[in-house]
Amino acid sequence: MSATLDIVPLQDWINTNGKPLMIAGPCSAETEEQVWDTVTQIAKEGYAHVIRAGVWKPRTRPGSFEGMGEAALPWLAAAKKETGLPLAIEVASPEHIELALKYNVDILWIGARTTVNPFNVQDIADALKGVDIPVLVKNPVNPDLALWIGALERLQNSGLKKLAAIHRGFSNMQETKYRNSPMWQVALELKRQLPNLPIIGDPSHMAGKRQYLAELTQRFLDLNYDGLIIESHRNPAEAWSDASQQLTPAALGEMLRGMQVRESDV
Ligand code: PEP
Ligand code: MN
Repeated sequence: MSATLDIVPLQDWINTNGKPLMIAGPCSAETEEQVWDTVTQIAKEGYAHVIRAGVWKPRTRPGSFEGMGEAALPWLAAAKKETGLPLAIEVASPEHIELALKYNVDILWIGARTTVNPFNVQDIADALKGVDIPVLVKNPVNPDLALWIGALERLQNSGLKKLAAIHRGFSNMQETKYRNSPMWQVALELKRQLPNLPIIGDPSHMAGKRQYLAELTQRFLDLNYDGLIIESHRNPAEAWSDASQQLTPAALGEMLRGMQVRESDV
């Protein structure tokens, strides 16, 4: 892939009036009520352009909640119908893609544990051949820029032009302040090599803890990222995954209102 990457600008696939794209929603879709309450509360707050939710969850260890699967898709479709907000979900296999398309999901993302695996990414790219849908590619769990770019290239080779990267940070052996180290230089190098590729910050998975969300969000904005993807749950303490990093829809609104924005975004 070169700097002439053939890509549709973000504003042409989702108009945010020049503001950073804001994707918000629960880590996981858990129940019909949890999806409805969370999504309608987010919509009422007015900051989100897109709703996110995990339907199939790639958990590090077995025995944790692995997502509701297809059962969650009608709940999300109903919330989308009510709010008019487009919907983004994670996909990791051709089967996930088939179901996402069946339920008219608007945007797909590839998770950090999937980006690392070229076989997996190629299967996804093959399943998306001829499909015109935006795909967001999270950084791989390890700080390997070529692997991140390679995943984008595989999608590009399938004809996808609505692509963006998500920077969610990199795994650590030891406990560190942030759950995943930002390693800003990796993302900045991606921006340098692919200046027309939109890049979205994921403070939720980078921080791992609510208390660090604001400082990371501010940092992404200061670095002129094109958007943010942030987890929000109607009752974060009770969340079935990533309980310690989610905010209520109202708390997320409060946090975002506290951000310093560039003059050009006002
Ligand atoms: C998620 O977005 O909920 C998720 C599982 O993220 P990641 O792939 O960044 O760990
Ligand atoms: Mn999560």
